[in-house]
Amino acid sequence: MAADDLVVGGMAPLTTVDYPGRLAAVLFCQGCPWRCPYCHNPHLLGRQAEHPVPWDDVRAFLGKRWGFLDAVVISGGEPLLQSAIIDAVAAIKDMGFAVALHTGGGHPDRLRQLMPNLDWVGFDAKTAFDAYAGVTGIAASGEAAALSLAEVVAAGIDYEVRTTVDETLVSRDDLLRLADDLASRQVQTWTLQECRETEIANRLPEIALLDDGAFLERLAGRFDGFTVRRA
Ligand code: SF4
Repeated sequence: MAADDLVVGGMAPLTTVDYPGRLAAVLFCQGCPWRCPYCHNPHLLGRQAEHPVPWDDVRAFLGKRWGFLDAVVISGGEPLLQSAIIDAVAAIKDMGFAVALHTGGGHPDRLRQLMPNLDWVGFDAKTAFDAYAGVTGIAASGEAAALSLAEVVAAGIDYEVRTTVDETLVSRDDLLRLADDLASRQVQTWTLQECRETEIANRLPEIALLDDGAFLERLAGRFDGFTVRRA
């Protein structure tokens, strides 16, 4: 598939937070086979975009932003779902932009193909890899994600591993097992992200996990860097 086959569901002209330290535009790729209950981009899950952005428009926009933007962030949805992402990322690199990818890692073979053209990866580790189906709703999603994380670590590029904490889906035991797994894979830093669904916190009577300093210290001790990112 060629770059102009890429179904782009939306575009953000400027972000300062989605690729740390860079000024970037964001392309939101259409489609994701997973169904995380806390997904905040449900309009991007189906294969068909409500308001698709033609590839010619993407190219024209990026051409005009050359010299102002450093980079393009490829997000979604799940960008690895579409085979056209390979040519699309190559085309963006040819224009002179750095490229960052946000992914859950559902397609490790495609990620491996893409890796030579990536400068940074934001990797969403959903939970312990043997518990993924409880978050994504898809059997074997954890095996795919684990293979993809191995590709990211082996590539030697900068990356971030982050986990959204929805306590109705991810237990403390899941997080401890994920922490052990990440550390055993030589992941140096890990970020926990507060779930935006505030009603979740209201349903839980006990102390919220992200407010439990003793538990967070148990997780943090396995890493050189450990961050809690509030919504
Ligand atoms: S993997 Fe990402 S885009 Fe897909 S359902 Fe989960 S949160 Fe949404």
